[in-house]
Amino acid sequence: MPQTHAARLNQQDNQLLYARLKRCTNLPSPPPVGLRIVELGQDPETTFHQVAEVVGLDPALTAKILRMANSPLYARQRKTENLRQAITLFGLNGTLTLALSFSIIGSSPGARKSSLNHDLFWRRSLAAASCCQVLGKHLDIAAKEELFLIGLLQDIGMLALDAAVPDLYQDTAELQTNHSRLQEMEREKLGTDHAEIGAWLLQQWNFPEHLRTLIKASHNPGITDLPEDRKAMAQIVAAASELADFCLDGDFAERIPEAAARIREYLDLDNETLAAILEKLFNEVMEMAQLFDMDFEDPMLLESIVDQAREILMLRNLQSMQKATELEQTTKSLESRTRELEEENRRDNLTGLYNRAYLDFMLEQEFISAKTHAWPLALAFIDLDHFKTINDNYGHQTGDEVLKRAARILMDNARSSDIVTRYGGEEFVILLPGTGTDGARLLCNRILLAFREARHAVEGDNDIQVTASLGIAIHGEDKHFGSPADLVRAADRAVYAAKLAGRNQCIFYNADICND
Ligand code: GH3
Ligand code: MG
Ligand code: MG
Repeated sequence: MPQTHAARLNQQDNQLLYARLKRCTNLPSPPPVGLRIVELGQDPETTFHQVAEVVGLDPALTAKILRMANSPLYARQRKTENLRQAITLFGLNGTLTLALSFSIIGSSPGARKSSLNHDLFWRRSLAAASCCQVLGKHLDIAAKEELFLIGLLQDIGMLALDAAVPDLYQDTAELQTNHSRLQEMEREKLGTDHAEIGAWLLQQWNFPEHLRTLIKASHNPGITDLPEDRKAMAQIVAAASELADFCLDGDFAERIPEAAARIREYLDLDNETLAAILEKLFNEVMEMAQLFDMDFEDPMLLESIVDQAREILMLRNLQSMQKATELEQTTKSLESRTRELEEENRRDNLTGLYNRAYLDFMLEQEFISAKTHAWPLALAFIDLDHFKTINDNYGHQTGDEVLKRAARILMDNARSSDIVTRYGGEEFVILLPGTGTDGARLLCNRILLAFREARHAVEGDNDIQVTASLGIAIHGEDKHFGSPADLVRAADRAVYAAKLAGRNQCIFYNADICND
């Protein structure tokens, strides 16, 4: 039998292999947006707006992130309607990690005759990533998004090996759905395996070290000296790799006991729990398959889909980069102003809420974001009713106490992504990024109710009640305002309408009411 390239590579001679990998011109690499995301992920100063800009410029990426946010894994009462809310849900790091995952899926090197089934490869990776997330949720691991990314990339070394050692995967069609045997084959031929090569490749991509370590340990979580929480992650990744084979191979049945034994060893689960996880898993994997237009029933379909997706991605990236340059200027000036403002006091002394200066600053940023990404921005103006009479009847100090309590009511009823500010005197403004009419209405009704139910202690008298009038203006649904000041003015006019209509109510700005 003629000796193959792979066999000629001396088992011990890893150096030769790495030299070959370095010379190889068609190693897998993340698309430009992916590289930018890695960069942002490593900069502790990265802001919400930078993340929104990079992700938001790619509509396909944004759509996937939203679908992920609304998947059962992140089930919440409220639907996540736009990228702003999704970033709040995942956090900056989580969003970047998911965006990176989504931008990498399907990004194989250019078309070439290969004995590695790339279509199968990506389906397997996606299945493994989904399994990681489901297990992460089940075992209560906080970094679910990181798990997804690691699950997705755990086998990326195979693509590198396939590019650098062309005949490595020759005659392995059957092995390609039996991952642990495939890995043994690599070790026999090369003295190393795709987990190690994957970790090396991610170093070339500038990936953070803790992720590379997890990739390296992906098929053998026992080998490395990881801290406890990382060890749990490594075990999940290894178990997910076994589970991914369940999702791909119709003839997997006879291998189930062996694989299940390994999963139990990694995760310390009993059969019943494992069965329950498996059930959830298939739903999740099918959901992910849908999200990425992958058909697990018909593997042949995928190759062309992946190709198309890559083409579309590349095209979008070019457009994104162009738009990104245009936006760069704005971002830079906003960033330097952020730092300036950090030096000043952002808070109102009496209530502890953000002050007017900070509102103006945030409003400007959120207004730009809302315009750029076409998501809504709601502004609620709140004015306490007949507040002057409280000062007049009970003194200024009591008035101050009521103002503090009013601030508390507003904070308690807003969500963490809302920006609650004291506009001045007995007037407050809440900025609701990414929120449209329905969300704003819910919040305002909660606030009205909370004021009606609250009682304030005053000296020498029974407790008193203070109500509020609210005016709401929404940018980006029916109406698009020309400037932040126009949005504030509209909400202010709506409050005025609420006062005229009898106070203690909420009115939405519209042309009829406000005579525009
Ligand atoms: P309306 O329902 O029409 O809004 O009536 P109002 O009395 O609330 O409105 P008006 O604007 O006439 O009065 C606002 C009052 O709020 C007058 C001002 O003395 C009082 N005020 C403003 N800032 C403070 C503060 O920091 N502490 C106290 N105690 N009172 C304040
Ligand atoms: Mg007022
Ligand atoms: Mg008032």
